[in-house]
Amino acid sequence: MVDTDFITTTLVDLVRINSVNPDLEKGGAGEAEIGAYIHNILLSQGFHSTIDTIVDGRVNVIGKHTGKGNGRSLILNAHMDTVGVQGMVNPFGATITNGKLFGRGAYDMKGSIAAMLGVAKAISDQKIELAGDLILTFVADEEYDSIGTQALLKDLSADACIVTEPTDLKICLGHRGFGLYEITAQGKAAHGGLHKEGIDANIKMGKVLCELDRFSHHITATRTHQLCGEASLHVPLINGGQSLFIYSNQCTINVERRTLPGEGETTVFQELKNILSKIQKEDKYFNATIKQLMWRNPHEISKDSPIVNSLTNSISHVNTAEYIGHTWWEDSGLFGEVGIPTVIIGPKGGGIHQQEEWVELNSVFELSRILLKTAINFCA
Ligand SMILES: [Zn+2]
Repeated sequence: MVDTDFITTTLVDLVRINSVNPDLEKGGAGEAEIGAYIHNILLSQGFHSTIDTIVDGRVNVIGKHTGKGNGRSLILNAHMDTVGVQGMVNPFGATITNGKLFGRGAYDMKGSIAAMLGVAKAISDQKIELAGDLILTFVADEEYDSIGTQALLKDLSADACIVTEPTDLKICLGHRGFGLYEITAQGKAAHGGLHKEGIDANIKMGKVLCELDRFSHHITATRTHQLCGEASLHVPLINGGQSLFIYSNQCTINVERRTLPGEGETTVFQELKNILSKIQKEDKYFNATIKQLMWRNPHEISKDSPIVNSLTNSISHVNTAEYIGHTWWEDSGLFGEVGIPTVIIGPKGGGIHQQEEWVELNSVFELSRILLKTAINFCA
């Protein structure tokens, strides 16, 4: 019921178009060319389609199949950008070997784009009528700052959404969020021989690192989620001091806190502030500040929600549906934030963000069938 030849050719074309995120790799093409390609396919399948420019060279494409009325509306979502191609042998080759299609973005997530366009083709070929709207959204910049989905959600809503990020055809019911922070410890610069004058910001930051280590073990041991695993924390960057033979006047670290569904922005920030206050009480020369640089909500959807039911019913004819959670953040977090019930399902493959990336073609066809059945069931 889906056109597997069409899906394969479309996927080959998609992988051959450079859509590397320019904020991740210099010279990355962005989404303009791939967006125009997708727009043309949507139009040829009788979908209403628009290209929305977010900033120069960065676009969203929105395809809509208008329902007859009185049905539930559904968004399918995929990002068009990919990570960089440095070190890859043939990133835009789209060669097929043993049922696997290779190239940058094949798995994350041009296979999903091809599956979604396969849904559009099936609806057009078979003149399928739906009661509710089916909205296919292809967005920019998920791999960097998600400007695509953020722009999309300013004036788009629906009764449910499926984000088609890779899941090996399992149903992903949630994922962790994250907070990114910057902590700066102030010292006092002085000649290395003048120990009564200098305050060493690097050593003061050492106290913060020890406390963060303790706190990190604590949350990983005590905070767990059935599908998303444990809460965690790490320090990806550290930067302190000006020179040898001088007391360090300043030390800065970044803290990346990975959060579980249920953990909120204010509480997570407060816990880190508490660590600094505790040290301050014990050390009158300790002087540090913290600021939040970024926050992305964790995401969760109930297994009993209507969209998960529709999806589960569409899968169970082939094999029993399996439910998982992801430890990394995805655009689904943004859909969840605005109250759209959102679930994640995508194809099988490997080498995500690595030098050899591939997708299993059969799983792309199967994804397309599952999405079509789900749309028919949910938007009926
Ligand atoms: Zn992705």
